[in-house]
Amino acid sequence: MVATAALAESDAGCTILHVDMDAFFVSVEVRRNPELRGLPVVVGGLGGRGVVCSASYPARSFGVRSAMPTGQARRLCPQAVFLPVDAAAYREASIAVMSVFGEFTPVVEPLSLDEAFLDVSGALRRVGSPTVIAQQIRARMAQQLSLPCSVGVASTKFMAKLASSRAKPDGLLVVSAAQTVEFLRPLPAHALWGVGPRTRAALERLGIATVGELAEYPLAGLRHAIGAAAASGLHELAQGRDPRRVVPRSADKSIGAEHTFASDLTTGRELRRELLALSETVARRLRDGHHQARTVGLKLRFADFATLSRSQTLPHPTSGTQRIYDVATSLLDSLALDKPRVRLLGLRVENVSADATGAQLELGEAERGWREADAAADAVARKFGPAAIRRLGGIG
Ligand SMILES: [Mg+2]
Repeated sequence: MVATAALAESDAGCTILHVDMDAFFVSVEVRRNPELRGLPVVVGGLGGRGVVCSASYPARSFGVRSAMPTGQARRLCPQAVFLPVDAAAYREASIAVMSVFGEFTPVVEPLSLDEAFLDVSGALRRVGSPTVIAQQIRARMAQQLSLPCSVGVASTKFMAKLASSRAKPDGLLVVSAAQTVEFLRPLPAHALWGVGPRTRAALERLGIATVGELAEYPLAGLRHAIGAAAASGLHELAQGRDPRRVVPRSADKSIGAEHTFASDLTTGRELRRELLALSETVARRLRDGHHQARTVGLKLRFADFATLSRSQTLPHPTSGTQRIYDVATSLLDSLALDKPRVRLLGLRVENVSADATGAQLELGEAERGWREADAAADAVARKFGPAAIRRLGGIG
């Protein structure tokens, strides 16, 4: 089922790869449960207000899409296998994926758990042409990780990303520098980065529907319609010029959990109980990865979909459930909510670092005590699952 379409006569200068894993969460589920292969499979929130996070290609053929309410997906494809989100499993798979990239080049810019830009210019002599590198990455993903991916190979980031989306699923597409303009011309103008609904409407008023029309439009008129900065940026992109470099960085150093409730939470007691559960989840992930964090962020979404977030940075990093819970509740209290109706509660920690053993010396007696309690709770969770801990939770 490998669709390899190489448009290019030459991949010279095409040193930017965009690698995107196919239906990533579903692929991880299929890998550990091979009888799901070839079936419509949906991973997402399974509660009344859950949304689809990932759908297999057979499920997509019924119209199921990411971010669609799970209820709608069930109506479109009742025979699909619906699975809950196993964030820990996907994060672990993501680490393996990113480490494959790192074997080819240190210049990796992750965009999410399952996609990244790679600049392979430093690997050409050692490994081979950009196309050969892309083929080797795809082979490694298939053979060692059993996870399919699609790769776009091009001379710019924008083109590489577009190429990988055209290569899906399980494909490789090379767009040579010479073919870039030809490839772009027939695309709708709103396919370009930075064209939101307002710019799109402005372009339509000018009679610009395609990238080719945008490329030919006089720059002065474009400036007048959408502003100088947007006009010159889009004009460049439309001509296939995208100066942005691949900026290496490590994968997103934040850990979060959130919960959308079947019915709105209305009391401080309910909110604190849920915050405790979220604190436990986030803190355990930190501890499992031997990490700690300095910033704790709280997010609330209300019945009218208004969303509030607050965060606080601590003098010392922590991975303690109680410490994170204390900060989260003080952030909640600082909002002084009056008769809230909360449909979603989220907790996130940022400024994540490795948990150096020396850090223990900075902890006060109280936190050391909680640390022992956390270690005991982690042991129970490993043995009986997180539900066992939630039943023990008595704070709030
Ligand atoms: Mg993907």
